Amino acid sequence: MISKLQMEKLQTIYAQAHTMTSKGKAASYIPALAEADSTAFSVSMISMDDTIELGNCSETFTLQSVVKVLSFMVATHHHGIEEIMRYVDVEPTGDSFNSIVRLESNKNKPFNPMINAGAITIASLLPGQTMFEKVKSVTSFLEEILNKQVTINNEVYLSEYHSADYNRAIAYILQANGFLKSDVEVALQVYLQLCSISVNTSDLAKIALYLATNGHNSEAKCSKKIINFAKALMMTCGLYNFSGKFAAFVGLPAKSGVSGAIIAVVKDGEIEHLKGPIGIGLFGPAIDDVGNSVAGIDFLEKLSKEYDLFCL
Ligand code: GLN
Repeated sequence: MISKLQMEKLQTIYAQAHTMTSKGKAASYIPALAEADSTAFSVSMISMDDTIELGNCSETFTLQSVVKVLSFMVATHHHGIEEIMRYVDVEPTGDSFNSIVRLESNKNKPFNPMINAGAITIASLLPGQTMFEKVKSVTSFLEEILNKQVTINNEVYLSEYHSADYNRAIAYILQANGFLKSDVEVALQVYLQLCSISVNTSDLAKIALYLATNGHNSEAKCSKKIINFAKALMMTCGLYNFSGKFAAFVGLPAKSGVSGAIIAVVKDGEIEHLKGPIGIGLFGPAIDDVGNSVAGIDFLEKLSKEYDLFCL
């Protein structure tokens, strides 16, 4: 049992970060996300044998762009790194996540799987022919990591689908340039279904712990090489066009989503009574202009500094 005094430093970091929610607002491009309580902020941290929870960690929300890490791993496990790299590069862009501007450079190849262009290409490369099979390949992988069934939030999915002009435009450009392995509609629907998977912060922390331990002791099969590849992508491209600063100031592989979700991976650290590999899952729907949870980023910056987590 941990005493209150020991947790004081952590509680202070949490309380300070919580006040930052007033500096952002919930994503407004679809009603289903705009309705989120922008004052909410919760954090789960999980090591191999212990947990710390701050805030209401049972609240559910959608994975959004955090799922890009999982779909990248599933597609790469299926095809191998070499084949995947024929379709998508691993270079950061410094542009917003749904930017279309670079699709006519770099031989038209999407820059990386953490931006929409790369993630839509990856969606088309997932195992299976139909939308259902491709979605299932990722939900099954996630279910093995979490050891429970997952669901898709249909309201969010339909909202996404009916406001997907940018993503549809990206998918058509990808198809025209030979970077889709399925129809436009299949790739788009798979991508948006995956963005709409429901989770809580504890689920996020388990995904991060899976990455931190290179899949150790998990039913979900993925090679260490691919997991390391995914973490390198998170470090260089995981926080949209804030990735460089996040790597410099926080120094942890992380991935965010516009729902206000963030996962962060601590390979080997010590946070209060948690020791060794630690997975961190955060949810704070008030996001900044780039699309990252304001409270989440603030919390991770202070946590990394106070507990010396910088991994480079
Ligand atoms: N569904 C969102 C989109 O593609 C996800 C983006 C995100 O989380 N950055 O626009």
